[in-house]
Amino acid sequence: MPETSYAPSALDRSATFYVAGHRGLVGSAIWRRLEDEGFSNLVGRASSELDLKDRGAVFDFFAAEKPRYVALAAAKVGGILANNTYPVDFLSENLRIQTNVMDAALEHGVERLLFLGSSCIYPKLAPQPLKEEYLLTGHLEPTNDAYAIAKIAGILQVQAVRRQYGLPWISAMPTNLYGPGDNFSSTGSHVLPALIRRYEEARLSGAESVTNWGTGSPLREFLHVDDMAKACLYLLENYDGPEQVNVGVGTDVTIKELAQTVADAVGYQGAIEWDTTKPDGTPRKLMDVSKLTALGWKASIGLDEGIRRTVEWFREHQDDFRK
Ligand code: NDP
Repeated sequence: MPETSYAPSALDRSATFYVAGHRGLVGSAIWRRLEDEGFSNLVGRASSELDLKDRGAVFDFFAAEKPRYVALAAAKVGGILANNTYPVDFLSENLRIQTNVMDAALEHGVERLLFLGSSCIYPKLAPQPLKEEYLLTGHLEPTNDAYAIAKIAGILQVQAVRRQYGLPWISAMPTNLYGPGDNFSSTGSHVLPALIRRYEEARLSGAESVTNWGTGSPLREFLHVDDMAKACLYLLENYDGPEQVNVGVGTDVTIKELAQTVADAVGYQGAIEWDTTKPDGTPRKLMDVSKLTALGWKASIGLDEGIRRTVEWFREHQDDFRK
């Protein structure tokens, strides 16, 4: 069984680096980070230019660009409602996107590839905080099982390429992310951008109260996407192994605390109410980040500051945020 003989080291700043999904929340942050770090040959394509579901087009693209490094941040992503309503889209599109990119990357011998999983693909009832070894040890959360199966297949593909071909590809497992470029749509967004939009609109309309779903007691962890992008490059330069690496902050907040922080950040002064007849979801979801900490990386953007920056971005992009 060939094991990689790769010793992680600084990536070549002049090599071609393909960021798949470079206009998305994570991909755009990775792109900014790589630019800041002096990478001079970044390649990206919008889905309108290159549909990663189109296998022939993906192989043609790799043949033309011959990237040496790949960050695979293109995926069909959505909140609980979208995942629950369109499971076959989340399963089929994600399988096709990631398989096409990784098959083409393999054919062209891409030296380092980073695949992104997600904390939501750990088993529903896994102990907290979530350790890397809990993957595939129990049943999935039914509302996003289709998405999770696709993502798990991606992590397995990275491991299989390592075993069969000895290429030093890796996977990272981000917690909930937020930041500039997030999806603020009313149907497809995650909890934090949804709260920012809801409270900003309530402030502007002078609403006396805003009602959120559930009790507000579930605990969640949030990582600013600029920290995530830093961690991605850090892993590419400092980690080589088959196991996915959790990327988070290692601490969590209640949804109630989160709502208050968002309300304070936007300057909303009305009441915050909770519709306790609506479901809460999983009580707690927190990553164990000891593996990443042992590798020498930790997050640097606090939640208050990160939310303030995201609110600023949201206000500056009223005409072009993702609705
Ligand atoms: P976004 O929705 O912000 O971005 C996804 C990107 O993928 C888009 O830019 C889109 O391109 C591209 N894309 C989607 N379908 C196609 C396609 N058929 N062909 C080409 N490009 C396509 O998602 P995120 O940045 O949030 O997520 C990126 C990765 O990070 C995903 O793998 C996700 O699972 C993971 N992740 C995200 C978390 C989060 O909280 N956001 C948490 C944990 C993991 P275009 O804009 O050009 O249409």
